[in-house]
Amino acid sequence: MEGGEIKKYDVIIIGGGPAGLTAGLYTSRSRLNTLLIEIGLLGGQMTTTEVIENYPGFPQGITGDELSRLMEEQTKRFGLEVVSQEAVEVKTDRETKVVKTDDTIYHCKTLIICTGNEWQKLGVPGEKEFTGKGVSYCATCDAAFFQDCQIIVVGGGDSALTEALYLTKFAKEITIIHRRDALRGTKIYQERVFANPKIKLLWNSVVQEIKGDSVVQSVLVKNLKTGEMGELETEGVFLFVGLSPRTQFLKGLMKLDGAGYIITDENCETSVKGIFAAGDCRKKLLRQVATAVGDGATAAFAAEKFLEARK
Ligand code: NAP
Repeated sequence: MEGGEIKKYDVIIIGGGPAGLTAGLYTSRSRLNTLLIEIGLLGGQMTTTEVIENYPGFPQGITGDELSRLMEEQTKRFGLEVVSQEAVEVKTDRETKVVKTDDTIYHCKTLIICTGNEWQKLGVPGEKEFTGKGVSYCATCDAAFFQDCQIIVVGGGDSALTEALYLTKFAKEITIIHRRDALRGTKIYQERVFANPKIKLLWNSVVQEIKGDSVVQSVLVKNLKTGEMGELETEGVFLFVGLSPRTQFLKGLMKLDGAGYIITDENCETSVKGIFAAGDCRKKLLRQVATAVGDGATAAFAAEKFLEARK
């Protein structure tokens, strides 16, 4: 790493979703000099979630925007410093952890990685070309552009189901295309999807191509049971075929699993001493706001203990 001004902190947190904001709340309340680096919106994936129903304490649910705002307000009350930059490289130099962003080099004694996930691409012809021209990965961001339209949603997990349900407020009709004959998503979302007259399901099918001129006009679909091909007219294609961790910039530094998730011990410590990981980027069973918050608290507490042991 070359050039740039070097700034020093006790703790650096990379990523400002629920895991990062919770870690920042804990380290700031422990009076550790902490910097949180986030290139997007504070709240992360929560900011594009319409309603969060399974985070305790909000019996009627809470919008993702509002929960993000409340978490940000709480962390800032205890003095967490936040910069809007992208961490592009992490290195260790003896006991110092070195984080490089686009224009700054930071040194810290301990690091907490909370970079979350990003949407997986379907990888079919037309997907890249029509992104922003009918292809979307976020219903809460783009649904209003599809008033009274015919929409296709691809995927059978919680994202596909919750986003399809949200789209029913705007679209005329939604077809969920799923590659199997059973959905993966939570039962309560399945019940709502099956009960919604605006949603149709196309089972055992995959999108092979997204077609159009300047905007999306149709998709080519293959039935995996019969091999039959069909073309469905549509004005929008929302893709929710899973997530992959934002950990590419950590390759070679710490142990990752085959899918790129960070392997930690039960205290959220990675294979590198003094570097912790929390939230969706960590290898674990359940990825929810509730588990991200738990990870963030654990990682922050473990980081504090690590610093105490170094004194
Ligand atoms: P997911 O659970 O991994 O589901 C991805 C879906 O896409 C699966 O149904 C999968 O089919 C399908 N798929 C994957 N690759 C495909 C391909 N190449 N072509 C066609 N279909 C493909 O991902 P997710 O729905 O984004 O959820 C990710 C995590 O976030 C989960 O832990 C979920 O519980 C959580 N989440 C929670 C909420 C909530 O609680 N409100 C909301 C959103 C997300 P198969 O089923 O056949 O594998």
